[in-house]
Amino acid sequence: MPDRTDPTAQPARITRAIAAAIVDQARAGKPEEICGVLRGRGLQAFEAIAVVNVAEDRINNYEVDPKALLLQFEFEEAGDEMMGIYHSHPISEAYPSATDAWNANYPDALYFICSLEHDDAPVIRAYRMTTHFLDLDLAALQGALDFYETRPGLFAYYHTADSPIPPALTDVAAAAPPPFYVVYYQQEAGQEAEVRVVSIVEHPLQID
Ligand SMILES: [Zn+2]
Repeated sequence: MPDRTDPTAQPARITRAIAAAIVDQARAGKPEEICGVLRGRGLQAFEAIAVVNVAEDRINNYEVDPKALLLQFEFEEAGDEMMGIYHSHPISEAYPSATDAWNANYPDALYFICSLEHDDAPVIRAYRMTTHFLDLDLAALQGALDFYETRPGLFAYYHTADSPIPPALTDVAAAAPPPFYVVYYQQEAGQEAEVRVVSIVEHPLQID
């Protein structure tokens, strides 16, 4: 997918040992997605901590065990941070899915994705995902955009970095430069839906 990188950003750094640990965990977990958190400071990761994926459908999704997210307080007591959250894509590219965007609840953390799309050439990439809380007219958006149901009840539209902005998205694009997902969750037709716009910016990553 065409993406946007922040060229002014200092690269995030993970050691080769951390990268290898994430790839090993991802391989061992196939065909399911695996996940974990990164302890570090600023953009430097010190340690990858594997966490149980508690998603219902672990082939297509991940959900970090909420208990593990409490680790951040332990990190903070030691002067560290939960600087990243990682998960694997066993058969797809290292790009956030609509579900990943919907679940990006930690704007201060970088989201790392390890792709095993090419078995012999694993790829790890890092992203900043920002949810924009905008006052949106869902009916108007539904009339103008092709939403797809990405999992039961979750509907998404992805706007690439280089495609023209349709009139229905003028305000959205002013607040959230593309690429972004427009996602909403609606279990039954007619039920009120929550709509989110989540912009995706790739963050440069150095593995050394
Ligand atoms: Zn994902």
